[in-house]
Amino acid sequence: MGSAAAYKLAMSGSDVLVVEKFHRGHTFGSSHGETRIIRFFYDKPYYTELMKTAYAEWRDLESKSGKQLLFITGSVCLGQRNNQYVSDVQNSLDAGAVEYESWDDAQLVNRFPQFSVSNNMDILWQKDTGFLYASECVSTYLKLAEHHGADIRENTTVTNIDWQSEIPTVYTENNKYSSRKVIVTAGAWTSNLLNELSLPLNVTKQQVCYYKPTDYIQFQPDTFPVFTEITTDGMFMYGMPYFGANGAKVARHGMGKSVSPDTCNRTPEKYYINLLDTYVRNRIPELGKAVHSEMCLYTETPDEDFIIDKHPDCPNILIAAGFSGHGFKFCSLVGRIMSELALTGKTELDISPFHIDRLNSL
Ligand SMILES: Cc1cc2nc3c(=O)[nH]c(=O)nc-3n(C[C@H](O)[C@H](O)[C@H](O)COP(=O)(O)OP(=O)(O)OC[C@H]3O[C@@H](n4cnc5c(N)ncnc54)[C@H](O)[C@@H]3O)c2cc1C
Repeated sequence: MGSAAAYKLAMSGSDVLVVEKFHRGHTFGSSHGETRIIRFFYDKPYYTELMKTAYAEWRDLESKSGKQLLFITGSVCLGQRNNQYVSDVQNSLDAGAVEYESWDDAQLVNRFPQFSVSNNMDILWQKDTGFLYASECVSTYLKLAEHHGADIRENTTVTNIDWQSEIPTVYTENNKYSSRKVIVTAGAWTSNLLNELSLPLNVTKQQVCYYKPTDYIQFQPDTFPVFTEITTDGMFMYGMPYFGANGAKVARHGMGKSVSPDTCNRTPEKYYINLLDTYVRNRIPELGKAVHSEMCLYTETPDEDFIIDKHPDCPNILIAAGFSGHGFKFCSLVGRIMSELALTGKTELDISPFHIDRLNSL
């Protein structure tokens, strides 16, 4: 989020300083790894609507950088017959006039024989879904921001933000910076930096597994789709094609343990790998067993909606946080929104679902 905002602001000719606790490309937060799903299908229509602009902003970044960052694979969204999530998704796609197809099990295995499914499932096919080359997206934002004059300070921790002074002041171990606007995109560390707000943010650790099937040709971006499934025991499983060094990614969304970002143990857990291998054995048997697994952090709000707003007591501080495990696809849009709020105090995009004050009534 911070890199995307820095890029947009630097492109607009603003004087930008980025302060980052670790080195760029680090693996301690929420944005590392090669892939992140981008999709229109959501159970809340406002996300489907906002995705239209997010896709356009990603395409703009591709044209500005000359790099392919977005890979369209299409997707299948699976759930047991009369599944609430799948029908909510259908409503959102209808509301957004986004094309999709309802398939039966025969149509699915005819198109993607890699799947093993029963005949009592709801199946949606959506052609525009894909994945983003996540690590490349972040580094591209930073490189272009620097190219347009942004100053990026790595391995520098913000120790405090003085929100009570007219001009907000940011303190690090050795320096202080006064700035007309401060944009806080501190991910899992947001509560530490904005503790005066007592935001209901729950940091959880999440694990993903990677598979390297023998017949990897069957699992390429042009032969295998992104998929999600709400299982009979309520788990939200997702996966995507073979890409990059790690292979095909499969994981469970959410249900992670609450942790502190500074002290949590990031060693992958065996029980989780077994859980994923069992799921894969039943649903996509040709994938085989996990060959690698890694950790990452979610920063969850109680309603899993984002926080995009001004600091309630200091409008010169802007906050983008609580992306609850589904924010990456939106960072092209969040970067634009934060730069518009910083430069003009407003944005034409509807961010009303993300206002902080909603949290008081949750
Ligand atoms: C396993 C997993 C799978 C996911 N899959 C998807 C997906 O398929 N699609 C999707 O859209 N989203 C997905 N997400 C969610 C998405 O990756 C996150 O929502 C997004 O990366 C959040 O970005 P961020 O900038 O808020 O956090 P981060 O990238 O963590 O950035 C916060 C930065 O702030 C820095 N920082 C914190 N405190 C300080 C300080 N005091 N001083 C200086 N710097 C500081 C940190 O070092 C960090 O670099 C997934 C997340 C995980 C964990």
